[in-house]
Amino acid sequence: MKVLVVNCGSSSLKYQILDMTDESLLAKGLVERIGIEGSVLKHEKTGSEKVSIQKPMKDHKDAIGLVLEVLVDDTNGVIKEMSEISAVGHRVVHAGEKYSGSVLITEDVINALEECIDLAPLHNPPNIMGIKACQQLMPKTPMIGVFDTAFHQTMPAVSYLYSLPYEYYEKYKVRRYGFHGTSHRYVSQRAAQILGKKAEDLKLVSCHLGNGSSIAAIKNGKSIDTTMGFTPLEGLTMGTRSGDIDPAIIKFIMEKEGKDIADIDNILQKKSGVLGISGVSSDFRDIEEAANKGDERAKLALDIFAMKVKKYIGAYIAEMNGADAIIFTAGIGENGITMRESICKDLEFLGIKIDNNKNNIRGKDAEVSTDDSKIKVLVVPTNEELMIALDTTEIVNSL
Ligand code: AMP
Repeated sequence: MKVLVVNCGSSSLKYQILDMTDESLLAKGLVERIGIEGSVLKHEKTGSEKVSIQKPMKDHKDAIGLVLEVLVDDTNGVIKEMSEISAVGHRVVHAGEKYSGSVLITEDVINALEECIDLAPLHNPPNIMGIKACQQLMPKTPMIGVFDTAFHQTMPAVSYLYSLPYEYYEKYKVRRYGFHGTSHRYVSQRAAQILGKKAEDLKLVSCHLGNGSSIAAIKNGKSIDTTMGFTPLEGLTMGTRSGDIDPAIIKFIMEKEGKDIADIDNILQKKSGVLGISGVSSDFRDIEEAANKGDERAKLALDIFAMKVKKYIGAYIAEMNGADAIIFTAGIGENGITMRESICKDLEFLGIKIDNNKNNIRGKDAEVSTDDSKIKVLVVPTNEELMIALDTTEIVNSL
Protein backbone atom coordinates (compact mmCIF):
# COMPACT_ATOMS: atom_id res chain seq x y z
CA MET A 1 0.00 0.00 0.00
CA LYS A 2 1.27 3.48 -0.94
CA VAL A 3 0.44 6.35 1.37
CA LEU A 4 0.81 10.06 0.72
CA VAL A 5 1.55 12.13 3.84
CA VAL A 6 0.65 15.81 3.66
CA ASN A 7 1.52 18.63 6.05
CA CYS A 8 0.08 22.01 5.03
CA GLY A 9 1.21 25.36 6.40
CA SER A 10 -0.28 28.73 5.44
CA SER A 11 1.90 29.13 2.34
CA SER A 12 3.73 25.81 2.29
CA LEU A 13 3.06 22.10 1.85
CA LYS A 14 5.38 19.25 2.79
CA TYR A 15 4.73 15.77 1.45
CA GLN A 16 6.13 12.27 1.47
CA ILE A 17 5.01 9.16 -0.34
CA LEU A 18 5.80 5.89 1.39
CA ASP A 19 5.48 2.27 0.34
CA MET A 20 4.05 0.69 3.47
CA THR A 21 4.85 -2.87 2.41
CA ASP A 22 8.40 -2.16 3.68
CA GLU A 23 7.90 1.39 5.10
CA SER A 24 10.29 2.78 2.49
CA LEU A 25 10.27 6.41 1.43
CA LEU A 26 9.66 6.72 -2.31
CA ALA A 27 9.82 10.52 -2.62
CA LYS A 28 9.45 13.67 -0.59
CA GLY A 29 9.13 17.34 -1.28
CA LEU A 30 8.10 20.80 -0.32
CA VAL A 31 5.97 23.45 -2.01
CA GLU A 32 6.75 26.99 -0.91
CA ARG A 33 5.20 30.40 -1.52
CA ILE A 34 1.69 29.07 -2.22
CA GLY A 35 -0.47 32.08 -3.17
CA ILE A 36 2.61 34.31 -3.34
CA GLU A 37 4.67 35.26 -6.39
CA GLY A 38 7.51 32.79 -6.96
CA SER A 39 5.68 29.55 -6.01
CA VAL A 40 8.05 26.62 -6.23
CA LEU A 41 7.97 22.84 -5.73
CA LYS A 42 11.14 21.06 -4.64
CA HIS A 43 10.84 17.33 -5.20
CA GLU A 44 13.24 14.54 -4.33
CA LYS A 45 12.76 10.99 -5.55
CA THR A 46 14.67 8.65 -3.25
CA GLY A 47 18.10 8.04 -4.75
CA SER A 48 17.82 10.89 -7.29
CA GLU A 49 18.84 14.54 -7.39
CA LYS A 50 16.41 17.14 -6.06
CA VAL A 51 14.43 18.94 -8.78
CA SER A 52 12.89 22.38 -8.54
CA ILE A 53 9.75 23.34 -10.47
CA GLN A 54 8.67 26.98 -10.58
CA LYS A 55 4.98 27.44 -11.42
CA PRO A 56 2.35 29.88 -10.15
CA MET A 57 0.15 28.20 -7.50
CA LYS A 58 -2.70 30.33 -6.24
CA ASP A 59 -3.88 27.96 -3.52
CA HIS A 60 -3.33 24.57 -1.85
CA LYS A 61 -5.42 22.83 -4.52
CA ASP A 62 -2.97 24.03 -7.20
CA ALA A 63 -0.10 22.86 -5.00
CA ILE A 64 -1.52 19.36 -4.42
CA GLY A 65 -2.38 19.20 -8.14
CA LEU A 66 1.27 19.83 -9.03
CA VAL A 67 2.51 17.34 -6.42
CA LEU A 68 0.26 14.65 -7.95
CA GLU A 69 1.50 15.54 -11.45
CA VAL A 70 5.12 15.16 -10.35
CA LEU A 71 4.41 11.87 -8.55
CA VAL A 72 3.14 10.28 -11.79
CA ASP A 73 5.72 12.03 -14.01
CA ASP A 74 7.88 9.72 -16.20
CA THR A 75 11.20 11.15 -15.03
CA ASN A 76 10.65 12.32 -11.44
CA GLY A 77 7.61 10.23 -10.56
CA VAL A 78 7.37 7.14 -8.38
CA ILE A 79 3.92 5.83 -9.34
CA LYS A 80 2.25 5.15 -12.68
CA GLU A 81 -1.14 6.58 -11.81
CA MET A 82 -2.80 8.45 -8.98
CA SER A 83 -5.00 5.47 -8.08
CA GLU A 84 -1.87 3.77 -6.70
CA ILE A 85 -2.14 6.12 -3.71
CA SER A 86 -4.30 4.07 -1.34
CA ALA A 87 -4.78 6.81 1.25
CA VAL A 88 -3.63 10.25 2.33
CA GLY A 89 -2.49 10.94 5.90
CA HIS A 90 -2.87 14.57 6.96
CA ARG A 91 -0.97 16.18 9.78
CA VAL A 92 -3.37 18.39 11.70
CA VAL A 93 -2.22 20.47 14.65
CA HIS A 94 -5.27 20.83 16.88
CA ALA A 95 -8.15 18.47 17.55
CA GLY A 96 -9.08 19.98 20.93
CA GLU A 97 -10.61 17.46 23.33
CA LYS A 98 -12.44 15.70 20.54
CA TYR A 99 -9.89 13.13 19.32
CA SER A 100 -7.39 11.08 21.27
CA GLY A 101 -6.21 9.17 18.20
CA SER A 102 -6.08 9.33 14.41
CA VAL A 103 -9.36 9.08 12.48
CA LEU A 104 -10.87 8.66 9.04
CA ILE A 105 -11.82 12.17 7.91
CA THR A 106 -15.55 12.67 7.45
CA GLU A 107 -17.70 15.80 7.27
CA ASP A 108 -18.10 15.58 11.07
CA VAL A 109 -14.32 15.49 11.55
CA ILE A 110 -13.85 18.58 9.37
CA ASN A 111 -16.55 20.38 11.37
CA ALA A 112 -14.79 19.43 14.62
CA LEU A 113 -11.46 20.73 13.28
CA GLU A 114 -13.13 23.95 12.17
CA GLU A 115 -14.42 24.35 15.72
CA CYS A 116 -10.77 24.23 16.89
CA ILE A 117 -9.67 27.14 14.68
CA ASP A 118 -10.00 29.46 17.68
CA LEU A 119 -7.41 27.32 19.49
CA ALA A 120 -4.93 27.14 16.57
CA PRO A 121 -5.69 30.10 14.30
CA LEU A 122 -2.41 29.85 12.38
CA HIS A 123 -2.31 26.09 11.88
CA ASN A 124 -5.77 24.54 11.60
CA PRO A 125 -7.02 26.68 8.65
CA PRO A 126 -4.20 25.60 6.26
CA ASN A 127 -4.43 22.00 7.55
CA ILE A 128 -8.16 21.99 6.71
CA MET A 129 -7.46 23.64 3.33
CA GLY A 130 -5.04 20.81 2.52
CA ILE A 131 -7.63 18.16 3.40
CA LYS A 132 -10.31 19.81 1.26
CA ALA A 133 -7.93 20.25 -1.69
CA CYS A 134 -7.00 16.54 -1.56
CA GLN A 135 -10.67 15.54 -1.29
CA GLN A 136 -11.44 17.53 -4.44
CA LEU A 137 -8.57 16.06 -6.43
CA MET A 138 -8.82 12.51 -5.06
CA PRO A 139 -12.52 12.09 -4.21
CA LYS A 140 -12.36 8.30 -3.88
CA THR A 141 -9.21 8.13 -1.74
CA PRO A 142 -9.63 7.80 2.05
CA MET A 143 -8.19 10.72 4.04
CA ILE A 144 -6.89 10.17 7.56
CA GLY A 145 -6.33 12.92 10.15
CA VAL A 146 -3.38 12.58 12.55
CA PHE A 147 -3.40 15.21 15.28
CA ASP A 148 -0.52 16.78 17.19
CA THR A 149 -2.66 17.11 20.30
CA ALA A 150 -4.17 13.59 20.27
CA PHE A 151 -1.41 11.70 22.10
CA HIS A 152 -1.64 14.07 25.08
CA GLN A 153 -5.38 13.56 25.57
CA THR A 154 -4.52 10.89 28.16
CA MET A 155 -3.20 13.58 30.54
CA PRO A 156 -5.11 13.67 33.82
CA ALA A 157 -6.85 16.88 34.94
CA VAL A 158 -4.09 17.54 37.50
CA SER A 159 -1.72 17.97 34.55
CA TYR A 160 -3.96 19.72 32.05
CA LEU A 161 -5.85 22.17 34.20
CA TYR A 162 -4.44 25.66 34.82
CA SER A 163 -4.85 27.39 38.17
CA LEU A 164 -7.37 29.85 36.73
CA PRO A 165 -11.10 30.29 37.43
CA TYR A 166 -12.59 26.90 36.48
CA GLU A 167 -15.23 28.60 34.33
CA TYR A 168 -12.60 29.40 31.65
CA TYR A 169 -12.11 25.69 31.14
CA GLU A 170 -15.86 25.10 31.08
CA LYS A 171 -16.70 28.01 28.81
CA TYR A 172 -13.67 28.19 26.50
CA LYS A 173 -11.78 24.91 27.05
CA VAL A 174 -8.73 26.79 28.33
CA ARG A 175 -6.43 23.92 29.39
CA ARG A 176 -3.11 22.31 28.52
CA TYR A 177 -3.33 20.43 25.23
CA GLY A 178 0.32 19.76 24.41
CA PHE A 179 1.83 19.40 20.94
CA HIS A 180 4.47 17.31 19.10
CA GLY A 181 2.27 14.34 20.07
CA THR A 182 3.03 12.37 16.89
CA SER A 183 6.77 12.74 17.51
CA HIS A 184 6.57 11.83 21.21
CA ARG A 185 4.46 8.78 20.34
CA TYR A 186 6.83 7.66 17.57
CA VAL A 187 10.06 7.97 19.59
CA SER A 188 8.54 6.40 22.70
CA GLN A 189 7.43 3.35 20.69
CA ARG A 190 10.84 3.17 18.99
CA ALA A 191 12.58 3.50 22.38
CA ALA A 192 10.56 0.54 23.67
CA GLN A 193 11.75 -1.51 20.66
CA ILE A 194 15.37 -0.49 21.29
CA LEU A 195 15.07 -1.44 24.97
CA GLY A 196 13.40 -4.72 24.02
CA LYS A 197 10.37 -3.97 26.20
CA LYS A 198 6.72 -3.08 25.74
CA ALA A 199 5.87 0.66 25.85
CA GLU A 200 3.13 -0.28 28.34
CA ASP A 201 5.80 -1.41 30.82
CA LEU A 202 7.96 1.72 30.62
CA LYS A 203 8.27 5.17 32.15
CA LEU A 204 9.86 7.51 29.60
CA VAL A 205 10.83 11.18 29.46
CA SER A 206 10.70 12.19 25.80
CA CYS A 207 12.65 15.37 24.93
CA HIS A 208 11.73 16.76 21.49
CA LEU A 209 14.33 19.53 21.18
CA GLY A 210 14.18 21.46 17.92
CA ASN A 211 13.32 24.97 16.89
CA GLY A 212 10.12 24.31 18.83
CA SER A 213 10.78 22.14 21.88
CA SER A 214 8.68 20.12 24.29
CA ILE A 215 9.09 17.30 26.79
CA ALA A 216 6.52 14.63 27.60
CA ALA A 217 6.21 12.30 30.57
CA ILE A 218 5.06 8.98 29.10
CA LYS A 219 3.96 6.37 31.63
CA ASN A 220 2.92 2.92 30.44
CA GLY A 221 2.63 4.17 26.84
CA LYS A 222 0.46 7.15 27.74
CA SER A 223 1.33 10.85 27.91
CA ILE A 224 0.62 12.02 31.46
CA ASP A 225 2.17 15.49 31.22
CA THR A 226 3.88 17.73 28.72
CA THR A 227 5.56 21.13 28.70
CA MET A 228 3.64 22.84 25.89
CA GLY A 229 0.25 24.02 27.01
CA PHE A 230 -2.83 25.79 25.68
CA THR A 231 -0.54 26.80 22.80
CA PRO A 232 3.01 25.80 21.78
CA LEU A 233 4.36 28.89 23.58
CA GLU A 234 4.56 27.34 27.05
CA GLY A 235 7.34 25.29 28.58
CA LEU A 236 10.95 25.15 27.46
CA THR A 237 13.05 28.05 26.17
CA MET A 238 12.83 27.67 22.36
CA GLY A 239 14.45 29.13 19.24
CA THR A 240 12.37 32.30 19.31
CA ARG A 241 9.59 31.43 21.81
CA SER A 242 9.87 32.42 25.44
CA GLY A 243 8.48 29.27 27.07
CA ASP A 244 7.46 29.74 30.72
CA ILE A 245 7.57 33.28 32.06
CA ASP A 246 5.87 35.06 34.94
CA PRO A 247 2.62 36.28 33.30
CA ALA A 248 2.91 39.56 35.25
CA ILE A 249 5.86 40.52 33.00
CA ILE A 250 3.40 41.12 30.15
CA LYS A 251 1.62 44.04 31.84
CA PHE A 252 4.93 45.41 33.12
CA ILE A 253 6.59 45.51 29.66
CA MET A 254 3.41 46.80 27.99
CA GLU A 255 3.44 49.78 30.35
CA LYS A 256 7.19 50.41 30.24
CA GLU A 257 7.52 50.13 26.46
CA GLY A 258 4.06 51.39 25.43
CA LYS A 259 3.32 48.13 23.61
CA ASP A 260 -0.06 46.59 22.79
CA ILE A 261 -1.00 42.93 23.16
CA ALA A 262 -0.20 42.16 19.49
CA ASP A 263 3.35 43.53 20.00
CA ILE A 264 3.75 41.40 23.12
CA ASP A 265 2.52 38.29 21.31
CA ASN A 266 5.05 38.95 18.55
CA ILE A 267 7.86 39.40 21.10
CA LEU A 268 6.96 36.20 22.99
CA GLN A 269 6.59 34.14 19.79
CA LYS A 270 9.32 35.52 17.55
CA LYS A 271 11.86 37.56 19.48
CA SER A 272 12.39 35.62 22.69
CA GLY A 273 13.92 32.23 23.51
CA VAL A 274 17.59 31.65 22.73
CA LEU A 275 17.40 34.37 20.05
CA GLY A 276 16.22 36.93 22.60
CA ILE A 277 18.81 35.94 25.19
CA SER A 278 21.80 35.61 22.85
CA GLY A 279 20.94 38.32 20.32
CA VAL A 280 22.81 36.05 17.88
CA SER A 281 20.35 33.65 16.24
CA SER A 282 17.54 31.20 16.90
CA ASP A 283 19.65 28.43 15.36
CA PHE A 284 21.63 26.40 17.89
CA ARG A 285 24.53 25.86 15.48
CA ASP A 286 25.05 29.65 15.20
CA ILE A 287 24.74 30.07 18.95
CA GLU A 288 27.24 27.27 19.65
CA GLU A 289 29.67 28.83 17.21
CA ALA A 290 29.34 32.25 18.89
CA ALA A 291 29.69 30.68 22.36
CA ASN A 292 32.86 28.85 21.26
CA LYS A 293 34.29 32.23 20.18
CA GLY A 294 33.66 33.59 23.68
CA ASP A 295 30.25 35.30 23.28
CA GLU A 296 28.95 35.32 26.87
CA ARG A 297 25.27 35.83 26.02
CA ALA A 298 25.37 32.98 23.51
CA LYS A 299 26.83 30.77 26.25
CA LEU A 300 24.14 31.96 28.66
CA ALA A 301 21.39 31.11 26.13
CA LEU A 302 22.72 27.54 25.82
CA ASP A 303 23.05 27.20 29.61
CA ILE A 304 19.48 28.46 30.16
CA PHE A 305 18.13 26.05 27.54
CA ALA A 306 19.98 23.10 29.13
CA MET A 307 18.83 24.07 32.63
CA LYS A 308 15.19 24.28 31.56
CA VAL A 309 15.35 20.81 30.01
CA LYS A 310 17.07 19.43 33.11
CA LYS A 311 14.39 20.94 35.37
CA TYR A 312 11.56 19.28 33.49
CA ILE A 313 13.39 15.94 33.31
CA GLY A 314 13.60 16.09 37.11
CA ALA A 315 9.97 17.13 37.44
CA TYR A 316 8.72 14.35 35.18
CA ILE A 317 10.80 11.67 36.88
CA ALA A 318 9.18 12.82 40.13
CA GLU A 319 5.72 12.80 38.55
CA MET A 320 6.18 9.23 37.30
CA ASN A 321 7.92 8.00 40.46
CA GLY A 322 10.99 7.06 38.41
CA ALA A 323 11.95 6.56 34.78
CA ASP A 324 13.44 3.83 32.61
CA ALA A 325 14.85 6.10 29.92
CA ILE A 326 15.30 9.66 28.71
CA ILE A 327 14.84 10.07 24.94
CA PHE A 328 16.46 12.83 22.92
CA THR A 329 14.97 13.66 19.51
CA ALA A 330 14.52 16.43 16.85
CA GLY A 331 17.26 18.75 15.50
CA ILE A 332 19.01 19.54 18.78
CA GLY A 333 18.15 16.31 20.57
CA GLU A 334 19.46 14.18 17.69
CA ASN A 335 22.53 16.28 16.82
CA GLY A 336 23.48 18.40 19.80
CA ILE A 337 26.26 16.33 21.34
CA THR A 338 27.40 19.02 23.80
CA MET A 339 23.82 19.98 24.59
CA ARG A 340 22.93 16.39 25.57
CA GLU A 341 26.04 16.31 27.72
CA SER A 342 25.15 19.61 29.47
CA ILE A 343 21.57 18.49 30.11
CA CYS A 344 22.61 15.17 31.65
CA LYS A 345 25.50 16.62 33.67
CA ASP A 346 25.16 16.24 37.46
CA LEU A 347 22.16 13.94 37.26
CA GLU A 348 24.11 10.93 38.56
CA PHE A 349 22.16 11.13 41.82
CA LEU A 350 19.06 10.18 39.80
CA GLY A 351 20.90 7.31 38.14
CA ILE A 352 21.52 9.13 34.84
CA LYS A 353 25.08 8.70 33.54
CA ILE A 354 25.94 9.70 30.00
CA ASP A 355 28.92 8.00 28.26
CA ASN A 356 30.83 10.72 26.40
CA ASN A 357 32.19 8.30 23.80
CA LYS A 358 28.83 6.71 23.04
CA ASN A 359 27.26 10.18 23.02
CA ASN A 360 29.54 11.28 20.19
CA ILE A 361 26.91 10.51 17.51
CA ARG A 362 24.39 12.44 15.47
CA GLY A 363 21.08 11.52 13.91
CA LYS A 364 20.87 7.79 14.57
CA ASP A 365 19.31 5.41 17.07
CA ALA A 366 21.73 4.92 19.94
CA GLU A 367 21.94 4.23 23.66
CA VAL A 368 24.36 6.89 24.94
CA SER A 369 24.37 6.15 28.67
CA THR A 370 26.96 4.08 30.55
CA ASP A 371 26.25 0.38 31.09
CA ASP A 372 25.59 1.02 34.79
CA SER A 373 23.29 4.03 34.20
CA LYS A 374 20.06 3.17 36.05
CA ILE A 375 18.03 5.38 33.71
CA LYS A 376 19.02 4.82 30.07
CA VAL A 377 19.69 7.78 27.78
CA LEU A 378 18.63 7.21 24.17
CA VAL A 379 18.96 9.18 20.95
CA VAL A 380 16.04 8.35 18.65
CA PRO A 381 15.57 10.28 15.39
CA THR A 382 11.94 11.26 15.08
CA ASN A 383 9.86 10.34 12.02
CA GLU A 384 6.46 11.96 12.23
CA GLU A 385 5.68 11.16 8.58
CA LEU A 386 6.23 7.44 9.12
CA MET A 387 4.00 7.55 12.23
CA ILE A 388 1.28 9.30 10.18
CA ALA A 389 1.66 6.72 7.40
CA LEU A 390 1.47 3.84 9.92
CA ASP A 391 -1.73 5.25 11.45
CA THR A 392 -3.16 5.80 7.98
CA THR A 393 -2.39 2.22 6.92
CA GLU A 394 -3.89 0.78 10.11
CA ILE A 395 -7.12 2.75 9.75
CA VAL A 396 -7.48 2.04 6.03
CA ASN A 397 -6.89 -1.68 6.63
CA SER A 398 -9.65 -1.69 9.23
CA LEU A 399 -12.26 -0.09 6.94
P1 AMP B 1 14.20 21.03 14.09
O1 AMP B 1 13.20 22.09 14.44
O2 AMP B 1 13.89 19.70 14.69
O3 AMP B 1 14.49 20.95 12.61
O4 AMP B 1 15.60 21.48 14.77
C1 AMP B 1 16.25 22.64 14.40
C2 AMP B 1 17.33 22.95 15.41
O5 AMP B 1 18.27 21.86 15.48
C3 AMP B 1 18.14 24.20 15.04
O6 AMP B 1 18.28 25.07 16.15
C4 AMP B 1 19.49 23.61 14.66
O7 AMP B 1 20.53 24.49 14.96
C5 AMP B 1 19.57 22.39 15.53
N1 AMP B 1 20.59 21.50 14.99
C6 AMP B 1 20.61 20.87 13.81
N2 AMP B 1 21.81 20.24 13.62
C7 AMP B 1 22.56 20.51 14.72
C8 AMP B 1 23.86 20.16 15.15
N3 AMP B 1 24.65 19.42 14.36
N4 AMP B 1 24.29 20.60 16.35
C9 AMP B 1 23.49 21.36 17.14
N5 AMP B 1 22.24 21.72 16.79
C10 AMP B 1 21.78 21.30 15.61
